[in-house]
Amino acid sequence: MMVKAFALLSGGLDSILAVKLVQKQNIEVTGLTFTTPFFGADKARAAARQIDLPLIVLDITTEHLQMLKAPRYGFGKNMNPCIDCHTLMLKIAGRKMEDTGADFLITGEVLGQRPMSQTKQSLHIVAKNSGYADYILRPLSAQLLEPIKAEREGKVDRLQLLEISGRGRKDQMRLAEEYGIRQYPPPAGGCLLTDPMFARRLRDLMERGEDRQIRDYELLKYGRHFRMETGEKIIVGRNSADNDALARLTAEDDLVLSMAHHPGPCVVVPYGRKSAKAFAAALCVRYSDAPNDSEEDVLCSHEGKSATITSKAASKEDCEKHII
Ligand code: SF4
Repeated sequence: MMVKAFALLSGGLDSILAVKLVQKQNIEVTGLTFTTPFFGADKARAAARQIDLPLIVLDITTEHLQMLKAPRYGFGKNMNPCIDCHTLMLKIAGRKMEDTGADFLITGEVLGQRPMSQTKQSLHIVAKNSGYADYILRPLSAQLLEPIKAEREGKVDRLQLLEISGRGRKDQMRLAEEYGIRQYPPPAGGCLLTDPMFARRLRDLMERGEDRQIRDYELLKYGRHFRMETGEKIIVGRNSADNDALARLTAEDDLVLSMAHHPGPCVVVPYGRKSAKAFAAALCVRYSDAPNDSEEDVLCSHEGKSATITSKAASKEDCEKHII
């Protein structure tokens, strides 16, 4: 019977090479990638297309948000709980492997490549906590690690796997050349949880302890964010892409403001806190094309009703004081 494996495919070069090294042994590989509000599947899709790999995309938002509330191993430099995140991904991949009768999992991890998540100890913790330690093959570093079940059973030949370690990329570049892989994204990037500005906004949201919806996390990606002393959040679009995204994400109970007579931003007060209306209108004028020193008309809609209010622009100091 054909040996089968699922490869966790980030779309980065290492994950592509890990697939190639296993496919070489006539093993049937299927790619697996995950989406949440913090990272998507575009890179994995592009990589899968390039190497003609079937790919399954799973939305793991609910489980990921649950984990994010209290990651057992804490956060990295920003709001990235990499050890717990990897553990979760492997746990979900392991369940998929069991459900489909596949033999093992593949990751592109390289021993010692990343300070937090790829030390020998981290790899061990992640594998153990996922519940699938004996099923996780890291083809690029396999010869430096304990053999997994599939290796012991001869389903995969350990001697054809590699012993790469550390942060250098020379071996990977050589292999990419050998396999004719020409397009791949830079090794880091693509996860908003590692972005300092996004992390600040996320921390602010999570510290509120409110019962949040998925779209509250989506909203963190767009516009300038302000927090009032009384707790209300106000979001101001920076450009037309932001404005379109904010308009798409608004719900009926949000307060939505825009300029009546000048080009300007879409301003959203999630959950329609009326106490934020005056400052939201002042921000709307501030970031519009209207003169900053005159009273301007601002359209304000909430729960299907619209009204026009007048406001002057918020001061620079007020903006700086409240921006997240
Ligand atoms: S960088 Fe982001 S996606 Fe990658 S393991 Fe860390 S938290 Fe998860």
